Amino acid sequence: MKAKVIISDIIRRQIIDYIRTLLEDIAEVISLSDWRSIGSLQIIRDADALIPLHERIDENLLSEARRLKIVARLGVGYDRIDVEACTKRRIYVTHTPNVLSNAVAELTFALMLCLSRRMIEADRYVRTEWAKAGRPTLPLREDLAGKTLGIIGLGRIGTEVARRAKAFKMRIVYYDKVRRKNVEEELGAEYLSIDELLSTSDFVSIHVPLTPETTLLIGEKELRRMKKTAYLINTSRGLVIDEKALCRALEEHWIAGAGLDVFSREPLPLDSPLVKMKNVVLTPHMGTHTVETRRLMASMVAEEIRRVLTGKAPLNLVPEQRGIRFN
Ligand code: NAD
Repeated sequence: MKAKVIISDIIRRQIIDYIRTLLEDIAEVISLSDWRSIGSLQIIRDADALIPLHERIDENLLSEARRLKIVARLGVGYDRIDVEACTKRRIYVTHTPNVLSNAVAELTFALMLCLSRRMIEADRYVRTEWAKAGRPTLPLREDLAGKTLGIIGLGRIGTEVARRAKAFKMRIVYYDKVRRKNVEEELGAEYLSIDELLSTSDFVSIHVPLTPETTLLIGEKELRRMKKTAYLINTSRGLVIDEKALCRALEEHWIAGAGLDVFSREPLPLDSPLVKMKNVVLTPHMGTHTVETRRLMASMVAEEIRRVLTGKAPLNLVPEQRGIRFN
């Protein structure tokens, strides 16, 4: 009998089909919605592997999944997976680091450029105003060159952002719980305390994982420390920022604007104050939404599942499980 792999049905059809093709000789891949419903839990009971996107993998779900050998997350952040509970049950947890760093770094720059050159407003202007005005009437905007970019979390994605910042001729400063001497040497990044970074940066970009330590890392005190002319970019996780404090900061102009791909609640409710604000650019948690990156992530997930189902150790265990062998 073939093994059973359950995949989140939020994942695009073409990626689900691709994973299905990659695993078709050893597994049946079933896409499933609402993993909390009784019907879904019954199907999960027979699963050998899970491929979650945003689904929460907790004690409740794991207590049903008695055959489970691996949770292979399509993505790098694993804050919705109870790794300790998986480890206790000898279930591997893998993720897809590195292959997505370029895509997220590119989106970070897209948000920065949208803010600095007001691309959304400019597009609307061409469609509605320019021909009537006869000559450009939009105000002058800002260069990235010469500005200071403050990176909070200089890991895989943060480093790719820094590489792009160097090409854009920006000054790079960073804060991380680990000092990254190699990136300092490669890119001339300067290490600062978080307070110094916030008060000196023209753009602050967040790239830490969501952990108890980083939850609400940026609140009122931190936002008030930023320059009035500075922009905040978040492509990490919504809960790293106190969103209520951010809304006040944007409404009362403590900062100039924000570029946000992630939110405390997703999808972002239409009645969120952010929706009406002009000084924000919003994207729907789409850091890795490119054809190339999603295919690389899908191949990685399929490879991890194949390895575990054929008795090999997975390659990209989450840090908490590194070095552990269950099969
Ligand atoms: P990473 O582990 O390589 O880098 C994270 C960095 O944050 C590390 O250098 C780490 O030392 C630092 N860090 C951790 N806790 C910290 C703390 N308390 N204070 C200061 N620094 C701290 O991870 P990565 O691959 O660069 O991914 C970063 C995050 O980006 C992911 O965890 C995920 O949440 C997010 N992400 C979002 C999208 C998206 O679609 N928007 C896509 C991929 C990843």
